[in-house]
Amino acid sequence: MSWYRVYRPQTIHELHLPSVREALDRIRQGGTYSHAYLLTGPKGTGKTSSARIIAKMVNCEKNADHIKSSSKKPFVEPCGACPSCERITRGSSMCVVEMDAASNRGIDDIRMLRERINLAPSDGLVNVYIIDEVHMLTTEAFNALLKVLEEPPKHVIFILATTEFHKVPETIISRCIVIQFKKASLEDIEHALQAIAKKETITINSSLLTKIAQKADGSFRDAVKMFEHLAQGKTSITNEDAASFSDDGVKVELRALCDALFSRDAERVAHIFQHIEEKNIDPTYAQKMTLQMLHESLVAEIVQETQKGKAAQIQSLLSHLAVPLDPLQPFPSLPFELACFSWCFGEIQQVERKPESERTPQKNSQTHVTEEQTKSTQSDTRVSLVQDDHHETEQTDGLVITGEEILIRWQDILAKIKSTNATVEALLRATRPQNIQGKVVTIEVFYSFHKEQLELEKHRRVIEDVIKQAFSLPVLRVSYVLGKKENKPKTQKAKDEDLIQSASEALLS
Ligand SMILES: [Zn+2]
Repeated sequence: MSWYRVYRPQTIHELHLPSVREALDRIRQGGTYSHAYLLTGPKGTGKTSSARIIAKMVNCEKNADHIKSSSKKPFVEPCGACPSCERITRGSSMCVVEMDAASNRGIDDIRMLRERINLAPSDGLVNVYIIDEVHMLTTEAFNALLKVLEEPPKHVIFILATTEFHKVPETIISRCIVIQFKKASLEDIEHALQAIAKKETITINSSLLTKIAQKADGSFRDAVKMFEHLAQGKTSITNEDAASFSDDGVKVELRALCDALFSRDAERVAHIFQHIEEKNIDPTYAQKMTLQMLHESLVAEIVQETQKGKAAQIQSLLSHLAVPLDPLQPFPSLPFELACFSWCFGEIQQVERKPESERTPQKNSQTHVTEEQTKSTQSDTRVSLVQDDHHETEQTDGLVITGEEILIRWQDILAKIKSTNATVEALLRATRPQNIQGKVVTIEVFYSFHKEQLELEKHRRVIEDVIKQAFSLPVLRVSYVLGKKENKPKTQKAKDEDLIQSASEALLS
């Protein structure tokens, strides 16, 4: 189990942020609870841990008489040892329902909550509903949630958490006690890391801990993950071990990564990712630094304008690479790597629009153009579906759309899929639409596990529904083919199939 999970605070006293510790302790001392809390602040600062601690406190057997009699004497801290505390720690309590609004953002999920809400707690005292990333809920889901928050039963607490407070409707906020989380100070992070070093009996000097804390930029989770990454089986960490951690070495690699991305050189990108792995560079940090470098280049380009269209290209690359990573996953860099490769493969290849009479399939007629060229000639271009050494622009049988139109709108389609199911969108990022025949759209997939996942009926339906909706079609099927190996960067051949497959399995399990 990752250190972040092992060393997650289990009591109010153990919480890292002093202001949050005080806020929760005021709830404890007040001896009563509100029906709705909104925890807001940056990622990795302890919102979920705090939500679980509240859940544990109101369900702990040490507080049972108190909850039942509604006396207002202070609660005691969760004991961590009673069956209820143990169930919540293990994640097996029926009283605590955790929902991630990033993937369950619809009205049906909130309706399900509404149906459950009057049920008495089955293995505890208070039912606690934790809704993470609550700002992702749809408007209808927010309205349904609001109804529940208006008159919650006595035995229910809602704990909403968000990293984007401004996206939560005022009507919801007004019904919650708001607890503000802020970025952790260097001191707070160092203190948390020192405690872990002590428990793991690892020697590390304080200047290295400071470096980790600086890189974590206020996130306990990122800091702990970086520390764990650096420690890997060692009993002491020297300055030498941390050499890979030096900004200079990292920056050289990441500058090379930016260059390779500008020239869409997938093979070089694969090489650089190998170096990043060998040098033990934390993936979260690698992504963050890459985005920072690109951002700096963008600003410089806007001011100096060295090359026409360069700023637009950087902007496009930045938005392509800004994918969320989960440092708790066993292969946290996967979404970032896939985003880099899909950028290099350049899902959409363009050819100039020709008069209908000249649009016969020709060998090597497709030309790869950059984003800015695409933009300048957008009204005048057509997208060609590239299949090995020839391209097809066939009209579909019975459909009024062409494969070209799917390609043109592929990014829009992905964006719509993302709002419905982020996992499916992540899987599709590393694919490309290949052709359309009859009512079947064929999509090229490069990893067998991705293919299996995309073929699952629930995933297939998400994709088909979005494409059907995008083109107002009554019927459409999607099929997948495993892509040609040579389409992938050569240096990956040896390891990527197994690595990415197992990582994907872990991500989706
Ligand atoms: Zn307990």
